[in-house]
Amino acid sequence: MNTAALPYTIGKPDAQLRYPVLIGDNLVIGWIYRWHRDWWAEHSAGSDNVHRPEEGMTGQAKAASHLAKLYAEGLITAAPLGEVAAEGAGTAVRTYGPAPLLHPRMPDTPRNREGARKAFAGLAAFLWRALGGFPGSDNHWMVECELCGWTGPKYWSHLRGRNGNPPGLKRHPGTCVGEDRIRELIPVYGPRKAASSPGGQQPEATASVSPPTRPRT
Ligand SMILES: [Zn+2]
Repeated sequence: MNTAALPYTIGKPDAQLRYPVLIGDNLVIGWIYRWHRDWWAEHSAGSDNVHRPEEGMTGQAKAASHLAKLYAEGLITAAPLGEVAAEGAGTAVRTYGPAPLLHPRMPDTPRNREGARKAFAGLAAFLWRALGGFPGSDNHWMVECELCGWTGPKYWSHLRGRNGNPPGLKRHPGTCVGEDRIRELIPVYGPRKAASSPGGQQPEATASVSPPTRPRT
């Protein structure tokens, strides 16, 4: 029996933030994901908690190598990517239509539903679109920036802002639509403070914002 580590690659995550682990171009031996602090590996025989990575290792690598070892030992089976994607697992980040309220791993309780509704309302207010159900505030949530179409994982705990302040204007890695446009589209940010304002500590308007009249310099 060959138990040497198989070369594998990690594919693009689906809307639930599960990463397919691939042998060759197209053969999925399982899916890995982080849930709260632990990494998990899902495969044809169930799912395993591989816990946290050791120092100097990533959780992804730990979970993926766990799958590769199980596969090399003949304990799990692989399936073509197109086939598992067709089952609804999906590998494309893009989704169509509304996301479900709760992530499949979130227990369906009144408390979680209420938290999810608040989170969805918060996303809408800041022009984000959920690509999957609410995973709780401390798990990555796949979202789309409605301003520019960027998609990626975010924490709700970061997106909602802190202490009554809106989240930062730097929405995500890469280029968005620019601070002025963000301020125009999301009224809670208010107009940009004049550069000459002392300390910049005056309260910001929270009502709707009139179109900027300040000339660009
Ligand atoms: Zn953006």
